[in-house]
Amino acid sequence: MDTLERNSTAMDMMPIVNLFNEWHAASTSKKIRAVMVSNAKQGKYHAPVAPFGYLVGDTEDRLPVVDETNAPYVRMMYKMRSEGASSPQIAKALNVQGVITPSDYTYKRLDKPNPYVSNHLWNAAMVRDILENPIYKGSVVSQKFTTVSYKNHQKYIRDSDEWIVIDDAFEPIVDKELWDKVQEVNKSCSHGKVTKSGAILPLGGLMYCADCGAKLKNNTTFHESKKRGKYKLVTYICNTYANHGKEVCSSHSILQRIIEGLVLEDIRARAKRVIEDEDGERQRYLAIKANERKQQTEDESRLLKQAENRLAELDTIISKTYEERMLGKLPEDLSAKMLEKYTAEQRALTAQAEQYRKARVQEQQDEQDVERFIQRLKKWSDAPCLTRELCLDLIEFIVVHARPEDRNAPRKVDIYYKFISKPLADSRNLLLPQNSVEIHQQ
Ligand SMILES: [Zn+2]
Repeated sequence: MDTLERNSTAMDMMPIVNLFNEWHAASTSKKIRAVMVSNAKQGKYHAPVAPFGYLVGDTEDRLPVVDETNAPYVRMMYKMRSEGASSPQIAKALNVQGVITPSDYTYKRLDKPNPYVSNHLWNAAMVRDILENPIYKGSVVSQKFTTVSYKNHQKYIRDSDEWIVIDDAFEPIVDKELWDKVQEVNKSCSHGKVTKSGAILPLGGLMYCADCGAKLKNNTTFHESKKRGKYKLVTYICNTYANHGKEVCSSHSILQRIIEGLVLEDIRARAKRVIEDEDGERQRYLAIKANERKQQTEDESRLLKQAENRLAELDTIISKTYEERMLGKLPEDLSAKMLEKYTAEQRALTAQAEQYRKARVQEQQDEQDVERFIQRLKKWSDAPCLTRELCLDLIEFIVVHARPEDRNAPRKVDIYYKFISKPLADSRNLLLPQNSVEIHQQ
């Protein structure tokens, strides 16, 4: 609006017009968002460039098609990660093979120089992006990002339950099982730190100090004796002790050989028990999980049934009350009071029933978890030694206690198994309040 003439009627109109413009912009933005959501729900694909391993299809819905030039590298990355390789290790392997980076590939196809990068190498972040993207199992994810409002374009990530995910939208590059396995490895409390010699130790990053909650780190020392000659020892020690000394925490030192032997022995014993009496072990693990939840599942099923019956009754009572009020059979103040009472009961019961239903879902989840654990134990039952892949498959985390003062007293090590124990909410330190782990006997 032209407001050069300060006393014009345009000037008087300005607040109204501005208000209208504001409303118009907000309303358009709302409509555009609605169209975006609707497209996403139909599985339409919007990215201008397909992710590495795919090409944008030339059909109307622009769904990505597998690009066999790069798809094999994507498969290689997923396979390596599922076996426990870290993102930097995978980046290194890609660079050694001279694999072209995603952005270089895009520009190469456009026949233009890549203006954004100075080196043409893979890095860990590029690898992680690929290893977390559900597009590789054929799913379209949209509505992952949003802006604050139509005025503020700053992007932020929505909660994952707000994303729109369409599965089997197009041809996958890796199968769902492998994709899920990689997500599981990604979620492990250990990121897979590579040692100086370029390897990831089987238990690296999976152990915590019982006293300060820090991770244990590996420590290599070199020794010489007449009997053994020159030799090296790998031990795990508390990270707090390593960084701040014995005034803060004790070493918690444990030989790599000892802890690996102990873990392998425990896994073998469990596998043996499963092979000898699978159903007995299944029941035992289910009992551990049920006990962990401290819920009487039978009672809950009964209570859920009661709640559901009463909710059905309330539905009838409430509509009857309305009906009678409408027909003038019930005085207004009385009907209002009754309705208030019934709807309050309805609200409370609905919430309670929801709780019971969740517990029931949890029970089914427990059965699945125990089954998965048992299958994995069987898979590794005759493993000759501990490998990284085995540890990531079975172990959630391990808590190492200090060596007792009495040299003859046994030392305590708690092994928390995948699917049996809850994962740590925060992997940085065992003792963070959000973890609040209960030590339980398995
Ligand atoms: Zn410590």
